[in-house]
Amino acid sequence: MSDPLLALREVSTYYGAALALDRLYLDVHPGECVAVLGPNGAGKTTMAQTIAGLTPPRTGQVLFQDVDIAGWSPRRIARSGVALVPQGRRIFGSLTTEENLRVAVSSRQGTAWTLSDIYELFPRLYERRRQRGGTLSGGEQQMLALGRGLLTSPRLLILDEPTEGLAPVIIDGIVDVLSRLKADRVSLLIAEQRTEFALSLADTVAHVAPGGRITFHGSVASFRQLGAQGTTDELAAPDRSRGATSTTDAVTDEE
Ligand code: ATP
Repeated sequence: MSDPLLALREVSTYYGAALALDRLYLDVHPGECVAVLGPNGAGKTTMAQTIAGLTPPRTGQVLFQDVDIAGWSPRRIARSGVALVPQGRRIFGSLTTEENLRVAVSSRQGTAWTLSDIYELFPRLYERRRQRGGTLSGGEQQMLALGRGLLTSPRLLILDEPTEGLAPVIIDGIVDVLSRLKADRVSLLIAEQRTEFALSLADTVAHVAPGGRITFHGSVASFRQLGAQGTTDELAAPDRSRGATSTTDAVTDEE
């Protein structure tokens, strides 16, 4: 298998004195889609924000294309090819759809995606281009947030709860778009509560347990098998002395 595009190595993140991510290992390969699953408060958002530089790790390495980007500013990380579509979309409510997109265009550097590409991908955004962001529906806001991320032409697109609050028909549309990105070899990291949505796109799964520990990192098939056995709630952590990789399917007891 190719070298990982992104590799977390023993990454720990804190909020003040509180540990939120506990010595995480994770690999994302070029063109791979990794589903980050786990219950409320387990640390999925913190993981997404740690990679994107919003909550930098206190210890460990965040290797992107073999360079440790831990401690870099979010802007520099975005410029290097990592885009975060945050939970809750965070679009500018008082700016129009097009102005929201142009903010992303102005911060990109020599990239492939253009405004017309985004309008082609999401014709609804073209129809709504003069409408203020705050007046768009939840689905349209999610398209806008995705479009904004794509305008930075990322090699890695991180999506934090992209289906939150959306109707099933809109979610199907998002699956189509993300499948197209995957076919274009954009790596995807999807943090989700909706397991089936994430598994329909994923190649591998990372399961995060409360306390910010990765308790499974392996193939979708292995994850489903454990689910069928009713054991996904009791997954034990991968062996940290080796580091978990997407090929380990590691479910070993660390105790
Ligand atoms: P959800 O699915 O509800 O978004 P999550 O898996 O994304 O949950 P996080 O939001 O990353 O989990 O939270 C991980 C832990 O960090 C939780 O215990 C949470 O209370 C704590 N936490 C998150 N944000 C902060 C913050 N800004 N300050 C202090 N603690 C925080």
